[in-house]
Amino acid sequence: MIRFHQVNKHYGSFHVLKDINLSVKSGEVVVVIGPSGSGKSTLVRCINRLEAVTDGELIVDGVRVNDSKTDINKLRRNIGMVFQHFNLYPHMTVLKNITLAPTKTAGVSEAEARETAMTYLEKVGISGKADAYPSQLSGGQQQRVAIARGLAMKPKIMLFDEPTSALDPETIGEVLDVMKTLAGEGMTMVVVTHEMGFAREVADRVVFMDQGRIVEEAVPASFFAEPKEERARLFLSRVL
Ligand code: ADP
Ligand code: MG
Repeated sequence: MIRFHQVNKHYGSFHVLKDINLSVKSGEVVVVIGPSGSGKSTLVRCINRLEAVTDGELIVDGVRVNDSKTDINKLRRNIGMVFQHFNLYPHMTVLKNITLAPTKTAGVSEAEARETAMTYLEKVGISGKADAYPSQLSGGQQQRVAIARGLAMKPKIMLFDEPTSALDPETIGEVLDVMKTLAGEGMTMVVVTHEMGFAREVADRVVFMDQGRIVEEAVPASFFAEPKEERARLFLSRVL
């Protein structure tokens, strides 16, 4: 579903991603961890071309992401993204936040979009909040709306960039539970998170990044029991 082959990216003279090779199969959950500034967000943002790679090959769902012929809007319709800071439209109701993209960019009728939105709001456990505004919701509820909004486009891939980092501790679990359910249903997911419990329990693979490189890639059981790389070991000793 996703394949990085020798991908490099620079921000001006800064070499942010170095020789990235990574494959994610359909239905796999890959958790990306690593210190702040190691390139995790950049890696994830390349997948839907929020960032362009400088060289190497990146193929997502069979299309070359950086090919000038690639229909970037079509690519993005297949990829949902959830950010640290929810990014909901504050002046729109929860329902409107979710129906906006399907009606405006995917040609879905208002009635169908509303029905789909309600299905996903139920799925994330907040169908009672359809007519509320984001500011009336807790952080955890807002993030669940953001997940429902991503799902409403019926994507093949969901990207999560530190989805619980801005949340109060008591609402983190409700968001992780929704993500766990999604993973169990076979969604292809790339998740940047500092929640090691989630990585251990839900990830098919853990990718550890440091200074723009993938330093280690392993199944969680072996990664958490016995990381091979010294930098990974040091990181784990600080976060666990
Ligand atoms: P992480 O998500 O692991 O914290 P990022 O991918 O956000 O790392 O950033 C990796 C590095 O690239 C950091 O040193 C950051 O300052 C730098 N960086 C991120 N975005 C930009 C940008 N738009 N322009 C220049 N440098 C950037
Ligand atoms: Mg980041």
